[in-house]
Amino acid sequence: MSYEPTSEELRHLRRCVELATEALEADDEPFGSVLVSGDGKVLAEDRNRVAGGDHTRHPEFELARWAAGNMTPEERAKATVYTSGEHCPMCAAAHGWVGLGRIVYVASSAQLAQWLAEWDVPPPPVRTLPVNEVAPGVRVAGPVPALVEEVRALHRRLHNPLHPGA
Ligand SMILES: [Zn+2]
Repeated sequence: MSYEPTSEELRHLRRCVELATEALEADDEPFGSVLVSGDGKVLAEDRNRVAGGDHTRHPEFELARWAAGNMTPEERAKATVYTSGEHCPMCAAAHGWVGLGRIVYVASSAQLAQWLAEWDVPPPPVRTLPVNEVAPGVRVAGPVPALVEEVRALHRRLHNPLHPGA
């Protein structure tokens, strides 16, 4: 299953890919996310910041906590989180706990897991699960084929920097 985003959604997803690229260029893992209000305003954005050693510094987790501190429950329910890669279980749980609305992602957790397996990268310490396995009430859309290859290339660069085109 895949998702065909609107032009506005595609713009937010492109920003996520830009943030993921920034993360990679700062020696971090390539993930980026944007929080958009129900009326279409970009409220916050972030990228992965695990390079310092704290592996909970995922953008989706930061955005969930930002939302909890800065938005009413009604505002959170109407908001959308756009992200370059589907939320991991930690971030999906945070998203669910703070009552945020829809998620639109470029690459699915299943795709990322498949790429890592192809590249012989050891699996992460936390299992890869679809968001709805963790937070069943959240509306989720993705993957978005138009941008998946760009996201795959970023992860490829992370895991095999000598062969970025492979
Ligand atoms: Zn995460």
